[in-house]
Amino acid sequence: MKAIAVIPGQKESAHMREMAKPEISSTEVLVRVLRVGICGTDHEINQGLYGEAPEGEDFLVLGHESIGMVEETGRDVRGFEPGDLVVSTVRRSCPENCMNCRSGESDMCLTGNFRERGIKRLHGFMAEYYKETPVHLVKIPKELSDVGVLLEPLSIVEKAIVQTFKIQERMKWKPRTALVLGAGPIGLLATFVLRDMGINTYTAALSPAGSKKAGLVVESGAHYIDSSEEPIPGLGEKLGNVDFIFEATGSSTAAFQAMGILGVNGVLALTGISGGNKKLEVEADCLNLCIVLENKAIFGSVNANVTHFQKGLKHLQNFEARWPGLLEKLITRRVAIEDFKEAFERKKDIKVVLEVGV
Ligand code: BGC
Repeated sequence: MKAIAVIPGQKESAHMREMAKPEISSTEVLVRVLRVGICGTDHEINQGLYGEAPEGEDFLVLGHESIGMVEETGRDVRGFEPGDLVVSTVRRSCPENCMNCRSGESDMCLTGNFRERGIKRLHGFMAEYYKETPVHLVKIPKELSDVGVLLEPLSIVEKAIVQTFKIQERMKWKPRTALVLGAGPIGLLATFVLRDMGINTYTAALSPAGSKKAGLVVESGAHYIDSSEEPIPGLGEKLGNVDFIFEATGSSTAAFQAMGILGVNGVLALTGISGGNKKLEVEADCLNLCIVLENKAIFGSVNANVTHFQKGLKHLQNFEARWPGLLEKLITRRVAIEDFKEAFERKKDIKVVLEVGV
């Protein structure tokens, strides 16, 4: 079968290779891949900045945002049939099986020795087939076959929002104003979830007000802010008490600026993965004082477990019903697997999807 792999640590090493089609055991499911999304993490891996090959191998099959169709099930598998559409979760437990991994929350792994499909020590889904155990698979209704590939990035949003509400159980909290920083797939999906929850949402990003991203924000009923015209530090005054900030720019500068405009009793969720080693001068006393005196909470959130995928699935259905066609507009390019090199070219995309077996 065809697969797209990289040599971890090597710049722009993405290549197509021929691999053996996986053979399943009695407890596994064989999935024929339909589509795979490409995200910032895949670009970082292809730049040689991130990613690890499985033990004993020198290459890593890319891809962690996928949708596929069950081709075959092992004889002991229940609940999955050939023809079912499925999305796989990404992270797998650490070998130590720490208490969080053990309880199905490898997204909260304590040891850091977890593995991630297409990212860290496990091959991913950018291939014609993959095999998996059923606990890691989420069934997708047929109507979502075009946009179900967005479920993995949406699961990241779901986890951060679930965590936000858990954290805010520390008080009575009814968020009125939310601010999303960034209008890439994560920022846009966060905007849609917050709008679906009925929260007055502002989304700030660097694209101009007339851009496609801004249009999608407005279509969901949120307000768009062009950060090049209205920089983050001034937004606190404009928006009043900002109850919740969802940071999804990937810029550590934006993350620190967000701390400065968070409202009283507010919560800031950081989801951006900022590779690099940028240094920043901050108003440390002032920031610290406000965080303390106004009971603010700041936390980081990475990855997602199967419960977040299930929550995301409900939201995908809500979005399709509320705003028909909106999700589809997030996918700005669909590229055939043979043209994977083109798929990795940075253009003005929101989400590029590789069409593998459609
Ligand atoms: C993936 C997560 C993963 C993270 C760090 C993200 O792109 O969506 O599942 O945990 O990268 O590797």
